[in-house]
Amino acid sequence: MKLHTITFGCQMNDADTEEMALPLLLRGFQATRELAEADAVIVNTCTVRQHAEHRALSRIGRLRAWKQARAGRLLIVAGCAAQRVGDQILKRFPFVDLVVGARSIERYPEILEAALQGRAPSSQGCSSPLPERAAPRVSSYVTIMRGCNYACAYCVVPQVRGRESYMSGERVLRRSRALAEAGAREIVLLGQTVNSWRDPAAGWDFGDLVRALSATPGVARLRFMSPHPDFLDERLIRTMAEAPAACPYMHLPAQSGSDRVLQRMRRGYTRAQLLGKIERLRKAVDGLNLTTDIIVGFPGETEEDFRASLALVSEIEASAAYCTKFSPREGTPAAAMADAVSEEVKEERLSRLLAAVEKRQRAYLASWKGRRVRILLETPCSGRTARNLGARLERPRAAGEIVEAEVTACTNTGLQCSAHS
Ligand code: SF4
Repeated sequence: MKLHTITFGCQMNDADTEEMALPLLLRGFQATRELAEADAVIVNTCTVRQHAEHRALSRIGRLRAWKQARAGRLLIVAGCAAQRVGDQILKRFPFVDLVVGARSIERYPEILEAALQGRAPSSQGCSSPLPERAAPRVSSYVTIMRGCNYACAYCVVPQVRGRESYMSGERVLRRSRALAEAGAREIVLLGQTVNSWRDPAAGWDFGDLVRALSATPGVARLRFMSPHPDFLDERLIRTMAEAPAACPYMHLPAQSGSDRVLQRMRRGYTRAQLLGKIERLRKAVDGLNLTTDIIVGFPGETEEDFRASLALVSEIEASAAYCTKFSPREGTPAAAMADAVSEEVKEERLSRLLAAVEKRQRAYLASWKGRRVRILLETPCSGRTARNLGARLERPRAAGEIVEAEVTACTNTGLQCSAHS
């Protein structure tokens, strides 16, 4: 029995797909990249933008031929679009066997078990203890929280994923230890606003968790995404500076550099507050690499507002930024805002922003030429530096090794390196 997975969207969805695959792998399914030979398919969908939802739905539509080519095949549709438009999916694609919305992910093993009654071998007889994940990667994700308590005006996530819920600190540590014992060297903590994580029973906040994980044997590196600026407090800044495994890297979504737009977006912070926090973080964490997200063309954004975003990217010295045009999502407050920015203006602003960001990115990468880096190899020839820069080695070494190397050249997106023997 073979299992094929298709994932749309963010790293949280990648991690969820791996979790959803696990019960089937424990039943004896083997992972395959080939759709044609699969007996089961999991499609994990995204709905953060209308376009992402359309792509997922059209992919499900194209699975009709695969599903109908052989009796007994199993098609599972999961994730955020499954949560938002699950009924429509079942109506439009009656060949789908199981729809599991993003809010039901914790209950997925039972839902699957019930759906599989008599269809596939049971996992009950599995002799090995339930592994935390079937095949850990050198860099492994752990989703520590789900949902979001914010209500950003453009975002559909709170509607789809609900309010925040947290994995206990003890469970995060157990899972990370299991991953490290199985070969993971880097743990990437995931959550919609990952640094709002807490464990009230243990009295832990996110900084406590980072410190505890940093002391976990085998965990050489620790990253997390995406933090919310509100929870980037002094404790977390100190932790970033002191916890040995915490990487000097942060992706901190700003979304806009204009106070007027930030307020309309309901982001909960001002430009000055954001700048103050980043300044303190930079002072505490030596050589921090900071990246961000910017949305252009939010309703009512003027040229002056846009320039404030443009200026922010250089003021915070972001080495890269994920830039998107605002696209309205049905049911969000921003979709009902009257003063939309025209597509033409959005395009023009986006291309100006991208040009500035690409220039910054090239300059940042070029600044590494001739310097020494430590690369955690995810494959024999490629990996990441502690500052999350993609790096390639001239000669292969063992995946999982941390290699001292010199940067010999850089491309537009990463570093070329030569290892010290
Ligand atoms: Fe969406 Fe805002 Fe929550 Fe991020 S913080 S998931 S943008 S509502």
